[in-house]
Amino acid sequence: AKEFGRNQFRFYTSAFSEISNRRMQLEQRLRIAFEQNQLEIFYQPKLDLYTKQITGMEALARWNDPVLGSVSPAEFIPIAEETGLIVPIGKWVLETACRQNKEWQQKGYSPMQVCVNISGKQFLQNDFVPMIERILEECQLSSEYLNLEITEGIALYNIDEAIDKLKMLKKFWISISLDDFGTGYSSLRYIKSLPIDFLKIDRSFIQGILANHIDAEIIRSIISLSHTLGFKVVAEGVEEENQLKILKEMSCDEIQGYYFAKPMSKHEFEKFLIEHGEL
Ligand code: C2E
Ligand code: CA
Ligand code: CA
Ligand code: CA
Repeated sequence: AKEFGRNQFRFYTSAFSEISNRRMQLEQRLRIAFEQNQLEIFYQPKLDLYTKQITGMEALARWNDPVLGSVSPAEFIPIAEETGLIVPIGKWVLETACRQNKEWQQKGYSPMQVCVNISGKQFLQNDFVPMIERILEECQLSSEYLNLEITEGIALYNIDEAIDKLKMLKKFWISISLDDFGTGYSSLRYIKSLPIDFLKIDRSFIQGILANHIDAEIIRSIISLSHTLGFKVVAEGVEEENQLKILKEMSCDEIQGYYFAKPMSKHEFEKFLIEHGEL
């Protein structure tokens, strides 16, 4: 038993150093990838359940590294957050997504909102609001076509400061989505106090909507409460027609998910818009 224990210990230490090696390698490669402009943005459309129109698209960072291969944002965004790299990367995503959105409008596609994920660290920067203003000004994008996706995490540190910043953004018509609702802290205090326009119900709830009647009732209540408070609801990660049907029956406003479309490169996204009569 003693020997077994020792082997196990050895196993754990080597597993641990493998994890930290990967972590270090990712951090180094991410810096290089960002500096060499190797990050990319994919776009995933969202759909209004009643008008059937595409209302906007979420900008999602992609990293296909020449050495590491494709790395998921679920793996590299947390590293970018820990190292502070998320600040320049996030700014680049904002600039690129806004410029792209303006370009699509100039090419004659129906104007729609581009939704950009904002990490807590980025949001807390002192110059966050003026930076957004500058970006919109530089790409001549009308502010109603930018939506910022925030999570409840931004309010943890200082809720009053978060509310003030959001109000400043809303003064010039930028809309706000509360992302991943149902994971994290999900305090009712947040949805009561944060000035948001959309609430995005996390995919983990949508996954359970057909099989789990408690999940279904939670979703129904979130939708109803959101409408009372005056914001729209987006269901994330809709993969099946049956999920869409029940969401529609529950008066959910918009859906996003593989059922409608996966995230696409800008070229694929243009083709998709054309197929859907948005040009
Ligand atoms: P998120 O903001 O919740 O984005 C939605 C994620 O769900 C995306 O994963 C998307 O590809 C995936 N998804 C959409 N529909 C479906 C579906 O029907 N089924 C399944 N299984 N998945 C679906 P992705 O692109 O891997 O991004 C993961 C997370 O990384 C995002 O979650 C977001 O939190 C973060 N992220 C991505 N890009 C950025 C960025 O530019 N800035 C920041 N701060 N975070 C980002
Ligand atoms: Ca998001
Ligand atoms: Ca989300
Ligand atoms: Ca999520």
